[in-house]
Amino acid sequence: MHTDSIIINDLEIYANHGVLSEETALGQKFLISATMYTDTTKAGLSDSIEDSVNYADVCQFITKYLTENTFKLLEAAAENLATQILLAYPLISKIDVEIKKPWAPIGLPLNCVSVKITRGWHIAYIALGSNMGDKEKYLNDAITMINDDDMCIVNKVSSFIITPPYGYTEQDDFLNGAIKIQTLYSPKMLLSFLQEIEKKANRVRQIHWGPRTLDLDILLYDNLICDDDTLTIPHPELHKRDFVLIPLREISPNCVHPLLNKRINELITEIS
Ligand code: AMP
Repeated sequence: MHTDSIIINDLEIYANHGVLSEETALGQKFLISATMYTDTTKAGLSDSIEDSVNYADVCQFITKYLTENTFKLLEAAAENLATQILLAYPLISKIDVEIKKPWAPIGLPLNCVSVKITRGWHIAYIALGSNMGDKEKYLNDAITMINDDDMCIVNKVSSFIITPPYGYTEQDDFLNGAIKIQTLYSPKMLLSFLQEIEKKANRVRQIHWGPRTLDLDILLYDNLICDDDTLTIPHPELHKRDFVLIPLREISPNCVHPLLNKRINELITEIS
């Protein structure tokens, strides 16, 4: 993540966000601040606006977006605005957005109320597997669907490898691969998005570790370590399975398993 930033402070707009009907009818003042994290080195050396994020342009963008769209909550306004700025300005890797409402109609004196959020691009690695039907098509279609989504960009795709089934062995060989993506989704949102794609592939699961048209697993998400009822990252099987490690090594041999603190290369050596 970049540590340089370009900062917009208290851009004033008049718009109609709010829960109360008089707020949406009459409108009120909002003050928008944004800290945009971007590497300024290139622009610093070239002295050319093309190499940087044009803050005048971003101010116009914010004004247009928040006057053309209406949100009940500052949370929703901030969430959507942050996403739209990140999508429109690829040089920004992360953004802090704060929306202040100085005239919040609460019947008590206050300076202002505000919501401040931080959003940005994340790097995730996803394992793909299929052992039914046209396996290659299932994997390629999944990659296309991921890349076609606004919130994801597929950066690297591994070769697909044929592997014998594990667990329940009375089934067809698997085709396995891995991809590197950048995404604006949180880990939970990414999981639901991938599960939607699995559903579209008509995945039917009768047997644990049994045949499936499409299996999508989150292997790594930045350096995140998490474990709850629905999501374990890094994926708990990642370091044990060569059919996951081999495609991952092809696209990112030096990426580090944050829990074991070892590179993918080293993990392969350990299981072979
Ligand atoms: P499977 O499709 O057999 O890989 O298992 C799917 C289930 O594993 C889902 O219900 C997820 O909630 C859970 N799960 C836990 N961690 C992960 C992960 N890193 N990636 C994908 N699914 C996960």
